[in-house]
Order: sequence, then structure tokens, then C-alpha cells
Amino acid sequence: MAPAYKRILLKVSGEALAGDNSFGIEPPFLQAVAKQIADVANSGVEIAIVVGGGNIFRGMAGAADGTDRVTADMMGMLGTMINALALSNAISRQGAKSKPYSAVSMPSVADTFTARDAKLSLEDGFVVVMGGGIGNPFFTTDTASTLRAIELDCDVVLKGTKVDGVYSEDPMKNPNATRYETVSYDEVIGKNLRVMDTAAFALARDNAMPIIVYALDDTAGLAGVLAGTTRSTRVGTPL
Ligand code: UDP
Repeated sequence: MAPAYKRILLKVSGEALAGDNSFGIEPPFLQAVAKQIADVANSGVEIAIVVGGGNIFRGMAGAADGTDRVTADMMGMLGTMINALALSNAISRQGAKSKPYSAVSMPSVADTFTARDAKLSLEDGFVVVMGGGIGNPFFTTDTASTLRAIELDCDVVLKGTKVDGVYSEDPMKNPNATRYETVSYDEVIGKNLRVMDTAAFALARDNAMPIIVYALDDTAGLAGVLAGTTRSTRVGTPL
């Protein structure tokens, strides 16, 4: 059966690489994430990845401690590059071709991201791993995910979280909260359902880019999400 999606944008948050710790990279978790990605890539799906950096440094936290926000966000962006290098290398070790890109120019570390170059790499079968967010302070890697998905003509954004979709309220706080199968961009934004930041949802809405939210710890993993067998929520216009 042909895969439902030809080219996907996967958002890998920093916390997915930290495993049970809140800081740094845990090799078993890194390898587990990389294996899921390599297996799906080897099944013929083109995968672009935006990597977060919350396991290393978040600009907001630095700013709260008195570091000026622009500097703190640059530190955050550098953190995402550490993760991007680690993840790209791990995907290669798991048997799929992979190439890191940076939104911030650091040519001896990784090629600087351009949509043109990244698309060629995807067409050549590389998993494209993008660090540095969009390269600007005051943004997050969620917004970068939506933006890159649009730029790279991806079919969908996949956002793995701690819960298996978008709920009417925070399910960690209210056990009676209900999960949506599908939900519109406007409802997510209007009700402030904080799965990604508002800028990410607004950009997705304006460019009709669907977002699938699923639980990172689902045993069927990425393949299950793509097969439609994993519980999830589709944000966007219904199929
Ligand atoms: N960041 C930024 N511009 C971007 C993307 C990220 O300044 O376009 C900085 C920001 O400080 C952010 C940090 O990088 O807090 C790490 O990214 P994020 O918080 O999105 O990582 P995640 O929560 O997904 O692990």
C-alpha cells in the first residue's frame, strides 16, 4: 500500500531526547527516536525534522534570570544545533541517510539551511535535520516546524507530545477533558489549547498545513501515526 504521506515534517522536541532526565541527551532515547525515524525513512517516506532545544536551554528561562532575551534565544538556538547534530548522526547510525542543516550560519558545523538545498536532499533520500529554529530570537521551534513544512512542500506536520492529542482542557489537570479527533485551527487558537504556540497554528491555518498531535510514548511510534492506527488529533480542515 502506498504511504498516506509522501513528505512529512516531524517536530522532535528537546525533551524527547532527554528521556527520563530534564537535561541533556540520553543515548538510549536518542537511538530509539533515531531508529523510528530511520525505519520510516527506509520505507520510502521523505522526512524533514525540526529539532527543539528545551533539554539544553530555553531563551525564556535565561531571560527570567536576567540574561537579555536576544542573547538567551541565541543560546537556545545553539542548543538546538547540538541536538540536530546528535540526531542526524544517530539516524545515520540506524541505517538511513541524514544531513543536518543550521538556520544560523556556522559553515564548519553544518550547511546553512536553504529550502532549495534541503528539498534536493529530501529528493535524494536524506532525512533532513534542521537546527537553529528559524534563526531569529523571539520564535520557537514549533513555529519553525510549521514554516519549514510549508517551505519544503510537506504534506503534514507531526508533533509528538506527552499526551495523545489535543484535549478540550489540559488532561493533566482535568481528567474529564475530552480528546478531539479533528479540531479546527480557529478553535485551537480561540480556546488557547496550548499544544503549539499561537504563531505556529496561525501560520498553519493561513497556509492550510495540517498538524497531527500524538503521544511520543505510543508503542506503535511514528509508523503507527502514519498508518493512522495511533490515537491522535488532526488540527486543520477535516480529511
Ligand atoms: N529559539 C529561537 N528562535 C527559533 C527557535 C528557537 O530563539 O526560531 C530558541 C528559544 O530560546 C527557545 C530555544 O531556542 O526557547 C529552544 O527551542 P524550543 O523551546 O522551541 O525547544 P523545545 O521546547 O521544542 O525543545
